[in-house]
Amino acid sequence: MKPFFSTLRARQLNGYVCQTCTRQLRRKPQRRSYASTSSRTPEIFDVVCVGGGPAGLSLLAALRANPITSTLKIALIESQSLTPTRTFSPSPDSFSNRCSSLTPSSVRFLSDIGAWKFVRGERVQGYGQMRVWDGVSGAAVHFDAFGGAEKEKRDEGGVVAYMNENVNLTAALLRRVEELGGVEILDGERVEDITLGREAEEGDLSQWPVVKLSGGRELAARLLVGADGANSPVRGFAGIESTGWDYGRVGLVATLCMEGEGEAEGRVKTAYQRFLPTGPVACLPLPGKFSTLVWSTTPELAAKLKSLSPRDFVGMVNAAFRLGVVDLKYLHTLEGGQEEEAAWREDHVGFDGSKIPQRVVGVQDGSIASFPLKLRHADTYIGERVALVGDAAHTTHPLAGQGLNAGQGDVESLARTIEYAVAHGMDIGVRMSLEQYMAERYVKNHVLLGVVDKLHKLYSVESGPLVGLRSLGLGAVDALEPVKAFFMRQAAGTGKIL
Ligand SMILES: Cc1cc2nc3c(=O)[nH]c(=O)nc-3n(C[C@H](O)[C@H](O)[C@H](O)COP(=O)(O)OP(=O)(O)OC[C@H]3O[C@@H](n4cnc5c(N)ncnc54)[C@H](O)[C@@H]3O)c2cc1C
Repeated sequence: MKPFFSTLRARQLNGYVCQTCTRQLRRKPQRRSYASTSSRTPEIFDVVCVGGGPAGLSLLAALRANPITSTLKIALIESQSLTPTRTFSPSPDSFSNRCSSLTPSSVRFLSDIGAWKFVRGERVQGYGQMRVWDGVSGAAVHFDAFGGAEKEKRDEGGVVAYMNENVNLTAALLRRVEELGGVEILDGERVEDITLGREAEEGDLSQWPVVKLSGGRELAARLLVGADGANSPVRGFAGIESTGWDYGRVGLVATLCMEGEGEAEGRVKTAYQRFLPTGPVACLPLPGKFSTLVWSTTPELAAKLKSLSPRDFVGMVNAAFRLGVVDLKYLHTLEGGQEEEAAWREDHVGFDGSKIPQRVVGVQDGSIASFPLKLRHADTYIGERVALVGDAAHTTHPLAGQGLNAGQGDVESLARTIEYAVAHGMDIGVRMSLEQYMAERYVKNHVLLGVVDKLHKLYSVESGPLVGLRSLGLGAVDALEPVKAFFMRQAAGTGKIL
């Protein structure tokens, strides 16, 4: 039997990516394993979801919350223990360093499936303005959800997005899944192997994926969902290739303590992002005096930043939003003393304090970490009895804060596709039943990944005509309210890219 990834359409789309980058990788997936399963008969499920992150848990909540799909027999396999997620009881004066912006569109979906009510609202911070500027030329654009004729079309509170800890979201989703019941949750269980089944007394499972778990159980899936992140074993089993490249950058994250609660209009605050040649640095508001940092930079500079004392680290973060590129380069060369050096230099630089984040006064202990950044796009999201969602299907640079949101879009679409199949008496696992999901999501995500990739490349340039052009571009965007409104709709997840 041939692997099933190679639709002509997927190859054409894949070709589009290939032309754009010389450092692209073709990820060689392991193909379907044809070794026969053990003699035991596997347990049969309608949906087996591998991965209990935001994408997997929201799919399960969506399927169980819908009366049409709630009759499906569902299992979740998650290699990590879900106990810390289940018992999430945070202290009000500390925040996880893994936070994501959730668009109003994602929040609407999470509300529809009954999960948003379990998110701890006191740990979520909306923002209604984004200040984005070029670290080389200084050209800036200010997006304001409170201005412009488009305001009424956005979230009723004028919110562009909500900053939230990932664990606050997964804890809420898990609570919702457990409230709805009916999902067999197998956490702390590694997927040892995925093979095709065989003919059994219960029927012919020879085209069904059978997941073998570290604990010895075997689960046959009418539909196997890969919500298992960027290195998806399900994608490997299905023989689905992915295309992309490593950015040679890491996303350095930390929980910051600011000098005050920050510029707020009503209940919303402002997000800041400055494009430096090494990558963007973003300061995104959390409740109270907290913010979360996402600083995309080279692995070497990230290692240097991680090695600094908390004081000097804070000095570097303040400098990243205030000092010139040359000053920053110099500060990176120092073994220590960045805080004093940056403060001295800041005294000699004029900047408009209302347009940059408040001063950072501390960094939460143990919150500095970094993650490699890469672009990957699977050639297809579906195969015979397989569907991929979230990072298993696509991974993007975090500069636009869209990765998790794109995963929520996938899940909403896949849940709707499964609902249609069930309602019409179709087999939910066959490719024909899954085509609608592919049609709704693939091109949309492809465009998103392409735009984010181009933005990263555009702002990595330090000198030459591109710097002038991008400054002109930002200036033009800032002057044109309808164009800004368009970008705001994209950021809020309410706009159509195509
Ligand atoms: C620095 C940074 C900042 C970001 N900021 C944002 C943002 O502001 N907004 C946004 O939308 N996105 C953001 N993202 C992206 C976002 O974090 C991801 O897109 C999102 O977490 C992906 O969710 P997921 O459920 O698809 O995958 P994951 O969160 O990777 O979950 C996959 C799950 O599968 C499990 N798993 C893996 N392999 C197996 C196996 N073999 N067996 C069983 N289980 C398995 C894992 O344990 C994990 O729980 C950011 C990413 C980074 C790195």
